[in-house]
Amino acid sequence: MKTALITGVTGQDGAYLAKFLLDKGYRVVGLFPRRSSNTCWRLDYLNIADEVEYMEGDVTDFTSLLRALKLTKPDEVYHLAAQSFVASSWKQPILTAQVTGIGVVNILEAIREVNPEIKMYQASSSEMFGMTEQSEQTEETRFYPRSPYGVSKVFGYWMTKNYRESFNMFTCNGILFNHESPLRGIEFVTRKVTDAVARIVAGQQKELHLGNIYAKRDWGFAGDYVEAMWLMLQQPSPDDYVIATGRTATVEEMCKIAFNYVGLNYQDYVVIDPQLYRPAEVDLLLGNPAKAKSKLGWTAKTNLEQLVHMMVDADLERIK
Ligand code: NDP
Ligand code: GDP
Repeated sequence: MKTALITGVTGQDGAYLAKFLLDKGYRVVGLFPRRSSNTCWRLDYLNIADEVEYMEGDVTDFTSLLRALKLTKPDEVYHLAAQSFVASSWKQPILTAQVTGIGVVNILEAIREVNPEIKMYQASSSEMFGMTEQSEQTEETRFYPRSPYGVSKVFGYWMTKNYRESFNMFTCNGILFNHESPLRGIEFVTRKVTDAVARIVAGQQKELHLGNIYAKRDWGFAGDYVEAMWLMLQQPSPDDYVIATGRTATVEEMCKIAFNYVGLNYQDYVVIDPQLYRPAEVDLLLGNPAKAKSKLGWTAKTNLEQLVHMMVDADLERIK
């Protein structure tokens, strides 16, 4: 039986990945930072909270990572923990750098120290492309991050690549484009929209305040994307991969799909609030997942309409 250690196990991807690995027969250990209230709602939603083992630790506390690795002896580490919300990264830039950036070298160093044979997945991000000149982004596209979050992810990306080249470690970057689900944090735009749709239907909300609705994203389903993380660590050699659907849509188009699904017109509810504009924006993300398809045999299974409908259904159910 293989053991996987997941940092960020209480997050969206951590929960789906834990379920995926448990279903494959893995022993799954989650690194669990101390919090003052319960953060297990996603693991509860998937009915796996009791099947995961937990090790207390924080990615900014190197010794807690050393202990977690020594005690649990994982074969694979999935490093998902991060301050992952772009908008917050301007409000807490130093924390973002420490958690999302330095956290990566902490886990790499801990692996090097305890057992350099452990395979490691780094949750890199399409936000690294930022203000890109290319209409479609691949593994070769130049990075131009536009937020403290994006900058921190670029640091983590290069550290991951550097440890592969310097110490021959099995470390992979998954450059994942936006991926969503009913377990997405409420602060992200897709979930903010689907939650609002459900509340409007229930008569609990009248308007939906949004910022830049012309930004374009390549949105996929988190449940599909965790399989790609696992596939990367099953290859004969480590590498970096873009994981995306290959379709882009504006925030406005996403809204239209969500409101249309319940028979409403988004234009009757959406209010543009300039306070929600970001200091710098990433206007267009569109991934080319050709390498993942040819090398990993991976493609996205869920399209944007299916994803949005799934999220609206889940939020309607929650509001009930
Ligand atoms: P979430 O924000 O849902 O989850 C983040 C996780 O990190 C939570 O479990 C959180 O714990 C944990 N965490 C935060 N700070 C620390 C810390 N100091 N020590 C230990 N754990 C910590 O993110 P997602 O699941 O959506 O994303 C997973 C990873 O993938 C992140 O690195 C993200 O940046 C990256 N990514 C995500 C994309 C997406 O579209 N979802 C796209 C590309 C990359 P707690 O619950 O206690 O706060
Ligand atoms: P990101 O791509 O990781 O930043 O994911 P988000 O879901 O937070 O944002 C996606 C896009 O939606 C960005 O271009 C935001 O500027 C835009 N957006 C517009 N209005 C909102 C809003 O109210 N909340 C969020 N989170 N994003 C918004």
